Amino acid sequence: MLSFGGGTQSTHLLEQHFRGEIHYDYIIFADTGAEPDFIHDQVWWWQHRQRQVGNTTPFLITQHSSMERGLEEMLMRYIYTDYQRFQMPVYCNSVNEDGEVKAGGMLPRQCTVDFKIVPVKQQARRMVMDQLGLGYRQKMPDNIGFITDIGFSYDEIRRINTYQSPQFKYMRMAYPLVEANETTEDSIRFLEQNGFPTRRSRCYLCPFNCATEQDIGMDWEEIIESEPFSFVKAVWFDAKLREVQATGTKIMRSIPYLHYSRRPLTEVFPEEIYLTNAYKTKLSQWLVEWQGYIADKWGAEVPAII
Ligand code: SF4
Repeated sequence: MLSFGGGTQSTHLLEQHFRGEIHYDYIIFADTGAEPDFIHDQVWWWQHRQRQVGNTTPFLITQHSSMERGLEEMLMRYIYTDYQRFQMPVYCNSVNEDGEVKAGGMLPRQCTVDFKIVPVKQQARRMVMDQLGLGYRQKMPDNIGFITDIGFSYDEIRRINTYQSPQFKYMRMAYPLVEANETTEDSIRFLEQNGFPTRRSRCYLCPFNCATEQDIGMDWEEIIESEPFSFVKAVWFDAKLREVQATGTKIMRSIPYLHYSRRPLTEVFPEEIYLTNAYKTKLSQWLVEWQGYIADKWGAEVPAII
């Protein structure tokens, strides 16, 4: 099966599948709940292309099994309840015994596994168990194995940390672009040469977003220009996480930042702060809706913070 991310590398694999060069039984997109709309548009574009080329491989969309609203739900749960499992790779500053603030490292990138890779495996398992007429909790028959292709490219080789699924012993992971020595640039060139969409997939608030001068194709400016309300939400999360961390109620001892410079987004993008005012009402409505959802689902007594 293909773990489809909607961005550049896994679409390269998807097109190879459409051309009959790689076989997949399932194409599965795990919605992290925080992708920009332009990535959802790209997923839709590829579903449309699938119909155009007459490919009939099941193309499924799935999400985290208990936090269906994805990363935003994880963050809201972290902010408004006593949930401690922070799953995003934020940049950190630490404070030493003398009260000096020092640049620290990054928290582990657990979100890719929890919100993308595992939901894909669970969805594939569900599909196969259904096909076999077995319940989800029953044992997978011994003669069945799964291989999930993941679109890491050669320049991302360090992201490979296993070929064996820790959750399911009959599942393996494979990295065809790494095996073919294909880089991110190679995939983008392939997409460009064919006139396919080339936006890089990621969450709108991903700390791996950078500034244009780093030019890895994912940057805050693209979010600000394409969907300013998502940027306003990122500004809110960025500030709120430090506020919650400062209460001392969380295991997290480091001070978190979404921007690699370890500065608040409001400081990095002072010119864009007018957006916070422009979207004030929308942000309030979004927060009220989230507070109700978190209170109902996770039993939190959330304050009316606007
Ligand atoms: S894009 Fe960034 S925030 Fe989203 S799942 Fe991947 S690492 Fe996490």
